[in-house]
Amino acid sequence: MPEIALTPQTVARVRGVFGDQVAVLHSGLSDGERADAWRALRRGERRVAVGPRSAVFAPVERLAAIVVDEEHETSYKQGTAPRYHARDVALVRAKLEGARALLGSATPSLETLHLAAAGRIRRFELPERIGARPLPPVEVIDLRSAPRVPEARGVPWTEPLDRAVRDALSRGDQVILLLNRRGFATFLQCPACGDVRECPDCAISLTVHQTPPALRCHYCGHEEPVPLSCRQCGAETQRMRGLGTQQLEHFVALRFPAARIARMDLDTTSTKWAHHRILERVAQGQVDILLGTQMIAKGLDFPNVTVVGVVDADTGLHLPDFRAAERTFQLVAQVAGRAGRGPRGGRVFVQTRAPDHHAIRAAAVHSVAEFAAAELPLRAPPQPAYPPHVGLARFVAAHEDPAVAEAAAARVAAWLRRASAERLAGALMVLGPAPCPVMRLKARWRWHVLVKSAEARAIGRVVRAWGARPHSAVVVDRDPVSLL
Ligand SMILES: [Zn+2]
Ligand SMILES: [Zn+2]
Repeated sequence: MPEIALTPQTVARVRGVFGDQVAVLHSGLSDGERADAWRALRRGERRVAVGPRSAVFAPVERLAAIVVDEEHETSYKQGTAPRYHARDVALVRAKLEGARALLGSATPSLETLHLAAAGRIRRFELPERIGARPLPPVEVIDLRSAPRVPEARGVPWTEPLDRAVRDALSRGDQVILLLNRRGFATFLQCPACGDVRECPDCAISLTVHQTPPALRCHYCGHEEPVPLSCRQCGAETQRMRGLGTQQLEHFVALRFPAARIARMDLDTTSTKWAHHRILERVAQGQVDILLGTQMIAKGLDFPNVTVVGVVDADTGLHLPDFRAAERTFQLVAQVAGRAGRGPRGGRVFVQTRAPDHHAIRAAAVHSVAEFAAAELPLRAPPQPAYPPHVGLARFVAAHEDPAVAEAAAARVAAWLRRASAERLAGALMVLGPAPCPVMRLKARWRWHVLVKSAEARAIGRVVRAWGARPHSAVVVDRDPVSLL
């Protein structure tokens, strides 16, 4: 499973079927508990292992099957060494041990769709939804023209969404609101000179938090007090721009004072079992409105949720990453599926400034096929080619000294170009060196080089050859899930 804390219902279902046979592996286990679970699996006392990413290595004896639930989730890729992708490991391990691998998703990754189209894996469809209920109708609301609720000020809150939430609450139904950005405001900007407060260690704007008040970096955790005046020009008013979940919560509480509201994001779930407590309250009907980041989009099954609102679908759409559209499609389609799981049905409202974007349009009709048909050609020639049409590896050079990082990246690029020309018959396409979109992270400057090839073997050869040399300033990530 992608993240065990977010999927207590799935764990409960597996336990419900296999009972004592199940060993649940998760990061909350002590070393002793983990060792006990592993021994029980190794001895065959437990025969089903459930867990996040690393559970793919669980010492299950006589392995029959590996199920990768929500196979499109990026959390299956480990961001630090060893940079493995649990889905790929599952396919290889199943092959080695003669087991079956089952990849499950309502919004499969394009890589997996590609394997299916090439006949390398078999495709099974579940055309009917839970209880044979139809998928809920999705209304796409154009934020550029739809009438806004005047009291909403900086919050993109339109009248159709407002009415739907009000009606749901008056019927005693539950509402889910998705906003994939935590904090109060995305950044603080001086209206006089335009200066935006950035993290001193990462080239990324600081997020405004209100409980407790601070400016915080979401990449490295740097924290500083909210300034009273601009550090560049001294102007005294600072304007908060961009909406975060804290501000949405604040607004929704004012707008619907009688509603019981729960917020779920990284800031409200830092303690052990915090996810569980929030979801329990929703399940028991003690919450009228659940709002939060992508955490609330996954796998939840609450039959009393009749309205789902995507408050701003565009938060991730324009990131400089070739998977930005795919992520947006998956997120919107997944959260849309949270509505109407009970007999009362449901409706979904997607607020966007890009109503014609293929990611939004395909999500609105719950169509993976439509999304893939529009997205796959955009990753193939004559456009620059990207996975799944080609394999990809990313070499990242990071150093406190920007000149060292740049020079290291330039050396890798030259080495790669030479290797391609002299030993791989030109099979590699080498891009860069270029500054990473997040150019400075945790006080280190970052440059990257991307390598693409239609031949997976050629990429494997340079990745292995480079990995065999000691280069502290450059790490290589094969099949990266993020290019930021
Ligand atoms: Zn200023
Ligand atoms: Zn930072």
